[in-house]
Amino acid sequence: MPSRVTEFMEHLIAKNPGEKEFHQAVQEVAESLMPVIDKNPVFRKAKILERIAEPERIIMFRVPWMDDKGEVQVNRGFRIEMNSAIGPYKGGLRFHPTVNLGILKFLAFEQVFKNSLTTLPMGGGKGGSDFDPKGKSDNEVMRFCQTFMSELFRHIGPDTDVPAGDIGVGGREIGFLFGMYRKLRNEFTGVLTGKGLNWGGSLIRPEATGYGAVYFAAEMLSTRGESLQGKTCLVSGSGNVSQYTCEKLLDMGAKPLTMSDSNGYILDEAGIDREKLAFVLDLKNNRRGRIKEYTDKYRSAVYVPLDPRANCNPLWDNKAHCAFPSATQNEINGKDAENLVKNGVYVVSEGANMPSTPDAINVYIDHKILYGPGKAANAGGVATSGLEMSQNSLRLSWTREEVDQRLHGIMKAIHRQCVEYGKNGNFVNYVNGANIAGFMKVANAMIDQGLV
Ligand code: NDP
Repeated sequence: MPSRVTEFMEHLIAKNPGEKEFHQAVQEVAESLMPVIDKNPVFRKAKILERIAEPERIIMFRVPWMDDKGEVQVNRGFRIEMNSAIGPYKGGLRFHPTVNLGILKFLAFEQVFKNSLTTLPMGGGKGGSDFDPKGKSDNEVMRFCQTFMSELFRHIGPDTDVPAGDIGVGGREIGFLFGMYRKLRNEFTGVLTGKGLNWGGSLIRPEATGYGAVYFAAEMLSTRGESLQGKTCLVSGSGNVSQYTCEKLLDMGAKPLTMSDSNGYILDEAGIDREKLAFVLDLKNNRRGRIKEYTDKYRSAVYVPLDPRANCNPLWDNKAHCAFPSATQNEINGKDAENLVKNGVYVVSEGANMPSTPDAINVYIDHKILYGPGKAANAGGVATSGLEMSQNSLRLSWTREEVDQRLHGIMKAIHRQCVEYGKNGNFVNYVNGANIAGFMKVANAMIDQGLV
């Protein structure tokens, strides 16, 4: 007889064909939750799992804009409003050519559990476009953002849905999006987070996801009486999350060895120190160059191009203590995870969303390493977005120290919840812990609010 998870997944896949990342995200959660649902008939009767996997609303729209050559371009815009049982929809916008409905639904689904874990009142959503900001002029990016917002503005609002950044959406894009929203609505509200400091943004928001992933790793290590001091670390990506992961690793006395982009990675055995990190920030955020240029400046480092036909990523085949995948989904497969373990890595803290495939997660669990899944480890970003919303409502700005302290406290609280729900003898299964802890609050709120 098929298991309850198999039955549930067969139905979900038939209903959402071709959305493989969404299937993957739901399968993992369903496996953690089915025992909880079996013990709580009220959840089964109310079909909470079926309801939580169905978006409350999906908005899809045409985004026509004109490039610098005067040619018309047509992209597609999306917003997935997944669940608002515990607060307004909240989650980033991703601009990347690979964006499609399945990817955004996986991200929105994960966001529901993540936001619940932060202890703040935020529902889950996600959106974006298949627009590729890479190689576009600032004017092209502005025209695209303005057209995108000329539709999105009617669906969002400070008490309805509050988008933020994600891959391809940083401070520049949030500025253009906010400007258009303000013009169309004729109101200045906290409708987007990740805003500039002079117009409603919060200190520490840019740093928060990376800092949070490092705080989470420190919490996991503390369960074994260890710290990050002296640990060598593999970091992937070179965008927002990776940059501030490296910064906080340096603050905590650890040594980041690698960074990457979609073309390849650099390995710097001497360590990426503050001066080198400042070079990467300028390269990526201002000059919008490629990570390969790091080796032109720092001859001690080596550059390895990514071979898309290879069955594994050589970045994960280097000796280290910790890994911080911070680029994109499914960037660590089963073979990569075996390489990590073989090379001595025993801490994986996910800055990216779902960067490990199910095979990779099985390797971590089999080897009982400290594995912090994205929905717990990278929740610092959205948590600080929640703090930005609070400051906007209060019309106050907290100091850097105050926001950082709150972020640190939230990451500790998330870790505590994961331990409470994921402890099994001496081992903490953080996957089960995060899924179950995130679920309970949302599920109970859905029960309280009736069949809506
Ligand atoms: P950025 O756009 O700032 O940086 C993304 C980095 O990942 C770039 O170095 C990019 O390289 C690389 N990358 C993107 N796609 C791929 C790919 N298919 N293969 C290899 N490398 C790739 O994004 P963020 O740093 O904001 O986001 C990174 C991850 O963190 C994502 O999974 C995101 O969902 C997650 N996250 C982000 C949060 C935030 O606050 N920003 C919050 C929580 C999670 P290239 O420049 O070549 O594309």
